[in-house]
Amino acid sequence: MDRKFHQLNEEVFQEIDCLKCANCCKTICPIFKERDIDRIARSLKMKPSAFVTSYLHIDDDGDYVLNQTHSPFLGKDNYCSIYNVRPKACREYPHTNPVNMHKYLGLAAKNLTVCPAVIEILKRIPL
Ligand code: SF4
Ligand code: SF4
Repeated sequence: MDRKFHQLNEEVFQEIDCLKCANCCKTICPIFKERDIDRIARSLKMKPSAFVTSYLHIDDDGDYVLNQTHSPFLGKDNYCSIYNVRPKACREYPHTNPVNMHKYLGLAAKNLTVCPAVIEILKRIPL
């Protein structure tokens, strides 16, 4: 099943243009781990504490997330202004390509409401 998911992930993301969508960047708040914060703050020439104050808050699970659901780093052209240093959570979204994909099925199902690529991948999974 993992192999099929990885293959479909490849196939679907060749067809879908994320720059025409950007729904994830407009509707969900990714988690920022300490490593993400340090890396991004450095690239913006900010202190990590200043970055946290400006952009993040702690959610109910105790994780740092963006202050707003529409990412402040998303441009009008749907490009991410911090793409090269973006959080791991953004790099891995929509989590349809991890090793041990079978452990991520719940998360994939959750992303059905946000990501058209997930809908397409799940439609093509043979039952
Ligand atoms: S929601 Fe899915 S298809 Fe849309 S930009 Fe995000 S990853 Fe790409
Ligand atoms: S940091 Fe970049 S990739 Fe992540 S949500 Fe914001 S705009 Fe999207």
